[in-house]
Amino acid sequence: MSSFTVSTTALTTFRQRLLAWYRRAGRDLPWRHTHDPYKILVSEMMLQQTQVTTVITRYQRWLKRFPTIQVLAKATTAAVLQEWSGLGYNRRPLALHNIAKLVVEQHHGKFPSDITELQKFKGIGDYTAHAMASFAFKQRVPLVDTNIKRVLGRIFFGYRKLETIRDNVGIFWELSRQLIASAKSPYDVNQGLMDFGALICTAKQPKCPTCPMRTICQSYPDILTAHPDRLRVKAKRTEPVFFGQPRRIWRGKILQLLHQHTTGLTVTAIGKQLQPDWDDTRQAWLQAVIATLVKDKMLVINGNRVRIKV
Ligand code: SF4
Repeated sequence: MSSFTVSTTALTTFRQRLLAWYRRAGRDLPWRHTHDPYKILVSEMMLQQTQVTTVITRYQRWLKRFPTIQVLAKATTAAVLQEWSGLGYNRRPLALHNIAKLVVEQHHGKFPSDITELQKFKGIGDYTAHAMASFAFKQRVPLVDTNIKRVLGRIFFGYRKLETIRDNVGIFWELSRQLIASAKSPYDVNQGLMDFGALICTAKQPKCPTCPMRTICQSYPDILTAHPDRLRVKAKRTEPVFFGQPRRIWRGKILQLLHQHTTGLTVTAIGKQLQPDWDDTRQAWLQAVIATLVKDKMLVINGNRVRIKV
């Protein structure tokens, strides 16, 4: 028996307690009132790297402007980036827009329900494809993301081991598969896992004293006295901040601006549009931000002009 095998009894107890907790304390989120794959995808794309409270407002706003995949497919890139502005990580809206066009052009506006087919769209990875299969198509599929890994790892193996097995993602997919295998509602198990990681077994301050898993948790009670650095599955990447805003926000603003000026702009012209108090000592900073977009194949430089890569 592998040291990562978990007994059926432990898994069943965990699932029962998780579902009981979820029914009592789970979050009422707008995207849980729909099974429309387009809306589920919008929520999943927004939730990557963005706080749930921010996503709730922006999700509703987005759907007012682009209520269906057909409307999004017809929208201009500039409109899509404008609606996304402030959320950062602009690869996400560009991927979403591209997916919408492909689904409309090649799939008659209907998303395929097969995970392998979903993963063929650029921007839909392993996790998102499984989330769509579970939340939109109500399939019995497992789900693993950083939060679920943390929850399962802490409970079944202990937080000390988590550091050494965090990259062995197969262990967590298998555990998650076993958890939903005989569940009456795999949907609730997956949503419950997400909420449990977000509200109780959180990254920095797990709420062990009130946690229903205490008696089966391999981390409890040692975790209460653990150093905060030992609690994180992955060190958070720190993002540079310029003039009070993280780099991703500046990247978004640059892309949005250049989508309105399709023949391109000089670095100075971009700087002047972005910052009313622009002065040329900021050239190096702006060039460095633009260089990250060129590296990500979103912009090109022709002579002294920067423009969108078509
Ligand atoms: Fe997480 Fe603490 Fe609950 Fe264990 S007891 S599952 S570490 S919150």
